[in-house]
Amino acid sequence: MTTLKGGAFLTATTSPKQVFIPEEWNDEQTLLMETVRDFFIEEVHSIGIEKAAQIDVSKDLPLILEVFHKAAALGFCGVSIEEEYGGMDLDFNTSLYLMEALAHGFSFATTIGAQTSIGSLPIVFYGTPEQKSQYLPGIATGEIKAAYALTEPSAGSDANSGKTKATLNAAGTHYHLTGQKMWITNGGFADVFIVFAKIEDDKNLSAFIVEKAFGGITIGKEEKKLGIKASSTTQVFFEDCPVPKNNLLGTREGGFKMALNILNTGRIKLCAGALGGSKFATTRAIEYASQRKQFGQPIADFGAIKYKIGEMVMRIHTAETATYRTGFNVDQKSKELMADGMKPSEAKLKAVKEFAIECALLKVAGSEVLDYVVDEVLQVHGGMGFAVETGIELGYRDARITRIYEGTNEINRLLSVAELTKRAIKTKEIDLIGAGKKIPGYLIKQLLPFKSKSGLNQERRLIENLKKLFILLSGAAGNKLKEKMVDEQEMVMNLADILNMAFLAESTLLRYEKLAQTTSHNAENLKAQHQILQLYLYESIQLARKLGEDLISSYATGTERRTMNWLTSILLPKYNVNPKELRRAIANHAIKKGKYPF
Ligand SMILES: Cc1cc2nc3c(=O)[nH]c(=O)nc-3n(C[C@H](O)[C@H](O)[C@H](O)COP(=O)(O)OP(=O)(O)OC[C@H]3O[C@@H](n4cnc5c(N)ncnc54)[C@H](O)[C@@H]3O)c2cc1C
Repeated sequence: MTTLKGGAFLTATTSPKQVFIPEEWNDEQTLLMETVRDFFIEEVHSIGIEKAAQIDVSKDLPLILEVFHKAAALGFCGVSIEEEYGGMDLDFNTSLYLMEALAHGFSFATTIGAQTSIGSLPIVFYGTPEQKSQYLPGIATGEIKAAYALTEPSAGSDANSGKTKATLNAAGTHYHLTGQKMWITNGGFADVFIVFAKIEDDKNLSAFIVEKAFGGITIGKEEKKLGIKASSTTQVFFEDCPVPKNNLLGTREGGFKMALNILNTGRIKLCAGALGGSKFATTRAIEYASQRKQFGQPIADFGAIKYKIGEMVMRIHTAETATYRTGFNVDQKSKELMADGMKPSEAKLKAVKEFAIECALLKVAGSEVLDYVVDEVLQVHGGMGFAVETGIELGYRDARITRIYEGTNEINRLLSVAELTKRAIKTKEIDLIGAGKKIPGYLIKQLLPFKSKSGLNQERRLIENLKKLFILLSGAAGNKLKEKMVDEQEMVMNLADILNMAFLAESTLLRYEKLAQTTSHNAENLKAQHQILQLYLYESIQLARKLGEDLISSYATGTERRTMNWLTSILLPKYNVNPKELRRAIANHAIKKGKYPF
């Protein structure tokens, strides 16, 4: 089977056979996921939810490290580390599934997440055999705690503008690091930092493996934060910190590319974690709504509450579907590269990079689903949602960071479209221009009535139209504004959201189609999944119409504006479903199961 190229979902036709769907997790993967999930539920519950909600790393560090070490003893810190260095070396998709499970540990998960992701993957992917044997076994057992130090007070989204300097000493044996890093997760107790700094007057960053024991390092106080209070976040100061020359990670000036590549992995992992949190929170809302009575009946009976439950389930399901579709594609790609003779760690890295567009889209999707969910779950709980004892306000506070780190959602929206444009125009990996040329012919066909609305014909066509809308609008606006388009960020954001909806809608359709073809599917789930597809498509069309019109009005006037609006309306005709009934049916399915139902 040939692997699709990253971003190519926009121009290619994908068959259900080509995608992975979550119903295909095998027993081993499910067991692993449940072990991690149950571990965290038990650990957090044994603390007591009210206490967990009030944990603060500056006073509860021993407790946090106790949970960390218990998790490490079960192997959780080594999920992505090669077996020869003491890890589990799980395939990429399974590692995403574990991130979903990890989310049940609230912000304890951030500690382990930083250890298994940004804190260690630079060594997994870029380390020499010597560096790997020196650091990875300890990271896998949790004996070495790891952190990733990229951000600086003046260099956040613009990470390559960092001022931390590395100077080689006269003997040529050590780099001396001087500078200040900020917002470093695990900073309060990390033994090893992946530090990004510029060697002398280099233009680009280099990366170093820096042990706290090297000296010249001062750790700042724990930051006082809105949420993820069980996660350590500090500044880290370097003053002439001597780093052995051999601890340069990767190539000189290769650090910025490394940082970006590691962030690709971090973004999709963050999405999987956000979905785990969303499922957990949705289940809490369903349980509460089913037992809480007002006006003589469970609040779950009210349409206003069903709206929220239906919407939450739909949003989680669509983002989840696209996440594991992508994770599987990453695994396929890395197998393909290994078959061509590439080293496993290099192949994995290249494979994630291939799907950088999807990773950026999913980071936005997952974090925004989570924020929607925690807000509505709190609302379902009414006053009890506001109380510390239920733990709901904890989830609400913890969720907010996901739109900020691993690249803010603004940056990820911009990046998804920029990367797609680069692959279309510069590297010519995606034939967006060819696809654009076919748009006039395609539009004429849309003027003909649907041949048949039977089966999924209408949905298939509307999803194709969402993709075509992106191609039409990016082409028309791009032709007019040329390179000025990058400064029109509002328009790029509009495009990013249309792209994301096309991706999630297509993934949801493919999951449904694949599932419907199996004999082993659960009929009630399948029915709800069809309703989810319809509801998501209905909402996507409404929103895409608005985003499209906003974008058109941002650059066109008069006849040009009217023509573009007309073409948009051809691509996005009315999709006649009953959204109220769809949401109710999805909510009823979840309420009957007493949990997030899939
Ligand atoms: C709790 C926490 C943990 C963290 N952990 C780590 C860690 O372990 N390691 C690490 O290195 N970093 C970490 N970070 C840093 C995090 O990655 C940055 O906060 C993030 O990248 C944003 O940078 P900034 O805070 O400087 O915001 P800024 O870059 O100043 O952004 C401020 C606002 O401007 C917007 N903006 C910026 N540039 C643009 C642009 N070009 N176009 C449009 N909008 C733009 C942003 O989207 C944002 O809304 C952490 C942060 C927090 C809060």
